[in-house]
Amino acid sequence: MDIKKIILSTIVSSILTVSSITAVQATYNSSEGQVVSDETVTVYSSRKEHLIKPLFEAFTKDTGIKVEYLTGKGGALIERLKLEGDNTQADMFMTVDAGNLWYAGSQDLFQSVQTETIKSNIPAHLRDPKGLWTGLSVRARTIVYSTDRVKEQDLSTYANLATDQWKDRLCLRTSKKVYSKSLVASMIYNQGEDKTGDIISGWVNNLSATPNAKDSHVMNSILAGQCDVGIVNTYYFGRLIAKNPHSPLKLFWANQDTTGVHVNVSGAGVTKHASNKEGAVQLLEWLSSAKAQVIYGSLNKEYPANQKVASDDVVSAWGSFKQDEMNLSQAGLLQARAVRLMQIKGYR
Ligand code: FE
Repeated sequence: MDIKKIILSTIVSSILTVSSITAVQATYNSSEGQVVSDETVTVYSSRKEHLIKPLFEAFTKDTGIKVEYLTGKGGALIERLKLEGDNTQADMFMTVDAGNLWYAGSQDLFQSVQTETIKSNIPAHLRDPKGLWTGLSVRARTIVYSTDRVKEQDLSTYANLATDQWKDRLCLRTSKKVYSKSLVASMIYNQGEDKTGDIISGWVNNLSATPNAKDSHVMNSILAGQCDVGIVNTYYFGRLIAKNPHSPLKLFWANQDTTGVHVNVSGAGVTKHASNKEGAVQLLEWLSSAKAQVIYGSLNKEYPANQKVASDDVVSAWGSFKQDEMNLSQAGLLQARAVRLMQIKGYR
């Protein structure tokens, strides 16, 4: 073993001992007619435990297959998968944002899975064209506004927020966040780099403060009167409204006469070195099913990726909208150009 391999295996084993894997087990037995299996699927997930555990429990109940999972930051889990290589225990990697899923695919961490079940459950624009990853829930990134200071008819597109009427009235999340990168990537895809550059310049010119660290801060700034409009993922709006139902804030569906609202996904792929590929494919198919999609949507106030499944009641009350059908792999392919453009135009 050369020195590089020794260092690598030391790093991997030290990481492995620090974090522990949690297991969801079937507590049912065959005398009650439930499926029993010794099979286990292991998942690395950047989605938090409370968002995945109910899904894995339901899967285990349906199939008897146990799910072991490890949660952590997306970037750290990707590095871990790279270090572990074919020694990994992970059969599946779950994370948020097509930009992150695309990156994991570009690092050769996934294998292609294109089954008829997945193809019929999840629309093509929410899946990797090569089958490396599949979107499992949809998050919409749209305009949020103060109902005290903004008239709905003054809103229209993301580009409109770059016009003079929004001078010193706009709050945005930092360009460092992958959500901002994916939105700008979609604008480059739809309108080209020159037009997108002009829009970003206009946004920067209209900012009332330096970009916020979080979507929730964008909304709090609007509530505090620091700005009047912003752009957020709708589940953050859902969380805020759940706590303060009378907040004078509303969502506006952007680009309805043009390209549609920018949507993104949380999703998953089967790892390249999965030791239980079959079980992982079964879990992925199950996660795309109507039963799982209902759970998925309600846990985090997101939209089902399976378009045959209705949104949760709270989410439905925000109204329906046309979504941008750009294939989400573009969020990854155009990410570097998006980052460079935001840098050039001074969007921090
Ligand atoms: Fe988020």
